[in-house]
Amino acid sequence: MSDLKFDVAGAEGPKRFFSRLTKESIAHGYLFTGPPGVGKKTFARALAQSLLCEAPKEHVLGYDGTCASCVLVGKEETRHPDLLESAGALKIGESDEAMAFHEADAITSRDLVRQLSLQSYSGGFRVFVLGDVDFASPAAANALLKFFEEPPARVVLLLTTPTPSRLLSTIRSRLVEVRFPSLRQSEVTAILRDKGFDAKKAQLGAALSQGSVTRALAALSDDEEQLRDQVAQWFFEVVKGDTPEESWASRETLDEGLEIVKTLVRDWIALRPESGKAGAALAVDYEPKLKKLPKITAATATNALTKIGEAQRLARTNVSPALVSELVRMSLSPN
Ligand SMILES: [Zn+2]
Repeated sequence: MSDLKFDVAGAEGPKRFFSRLTKESIAHGYLFTGPPGVGKKTFARALAQSLLCEAPKEHVLGYDGTCASCVLVGKEETRHPDLLESAGALKIGESDEAMAFHEADAITSRDLVRQLSLQSYSGGFRVFVLGDVDFASPAAANALLKFFEEPPARVVLLLTTPTPSRLLSTIRSRLVEVRFPSLRQSEVTAILRDKGFDAKKAQLGAALSQGSVTRALAALSDDEEQLRDQVAQWFFEVVKGDTPEESWASRETLDEGLEIVKTLVRDWIALRPESGKAGAALAVDYEPKLKKLPKITAATATNALTKIGEAQRLARTNVSPALVSELVRMSLSPN
């Protein structure tokens, strides 16, 4: 049995939880919660594959990757008749446009009822992976409640959501909640490497990810890189005492821009502390420039971070972006 695998980064808690379950003790419905981009859907998919895999095993977790079922589950897109999955945000609504299950952005409640009542094709489990689930209508929620009243044997629902509070409590109470924590930086690096990023990019993305692959990918996107460059240029001029143009601070980019400034200030403190030993930078691509900055005192650092925090709150109000960035500039300027 040691040749079975479960190829999912992080998620140690959920792995321990499911590794104790057997095909007999697994519940009918699970709700995976946790921040976006920490692997909830990846885990749900791997668990589904584990349930469908034909390899003999004592506990549910793990698959061989080679049996007929595993081949049908596939890596990108499933062709397994007993695995129904939806990628991305899913709203289950009332309207009935009779779309096929896997091409539907909006599964109808009627689809859901029909699908939940079908028998397994292969005589084993039937697994539903519904990512970022959102029941748009009472009809859809009712369809699911009916399912839980008399669940057919060997049907497992795996729902994921970053916002469990938005689910109806009647539904939520019937699901076993499994919490997914943020990923470790090394785990994000490994996932990005797996996605084809070179070592340097993967390290940078992971450093800026705050434990979320979604955030890491956003940070590595072209738009975001441009913004990072603009903000960094502004930052280095400001700390020299110049008054550069604040072209990065628009209504759309202000929030993200301030987050970038915050990372740069934290790195400045880490790399050039007034006393004590220097630490490691998050924004590794600016490390050489940050190392050339003068040492920063604890008082200046605290003041700057407080002002950035204030600016972030103001950024969510109607205060003009130029005023907000000016507030941050003054806290960072040596003049
Ligand atoms: Zn298999």
